[in-house]
Amino acid sequence: MPLRAQADVREIEGVLNDILNTPFPPVARCRLLSSGFSPGHTLDIAEDLAGIKDCLGCGNCIDICPVFAREPRRREQTEQRTSMALESLVSEDCDRCYACVLVCPQVDTTIKHYIVNRRMIEDMSRLQERIGDEGEPDLDLFLEEALSQV
Ligand code: SF4
Ligand code: SF4
Repeated sequence: MPLRAQADVREIEGVLNDILNTPFPPVARCRLLSSGFSPGHTLDIAEDLAGIKDCLGCGNCIDICPVFAREPRRREQTEQRTSMALESLVSEDCDRCYACVLVCPQVDTTIKHYIVNRRMIEDMSRLQERIGDEGEPDLDLFLEEALSQV
């Protein structure tokens, strides 16, 4: 739940594309490029969280990642549901689908819109080449769902 004033993608486009071009879970670095936690949250806590860019441990990125959908046993290695867990469990096997970035509550909407508008079609085409691979049955379903949301 980022701040109202969010990252201007024109100012970070170079580094953002470097992150998105690297086969490694991108969500933590996209989070750090974002504006941070909004003071408008409804959590019942006294601490001022405004602007923090930390992982909230919500596990959304873990739940959406297609690598775990294909290989659920990877999740059994830890109970943690953080971006650090995602990075250590997926590492260089990342598909660069960007689903983890799109579902992270700590990533700015400006960055998500950039990914959907400028990166998804190209990267979905790359992933589409793997549709029909019997060893990756979940990729079809994942693509179907992702494309229905673009
Ligand atoms: S959700 Fe997609 S981009 Fe994120 S770590 Fe998993 S495969 Fe990589
Ligand atoms: S989706 Fe949740 S667990 Fe993943 S990086 Fe964002 S805040 Fe952390």
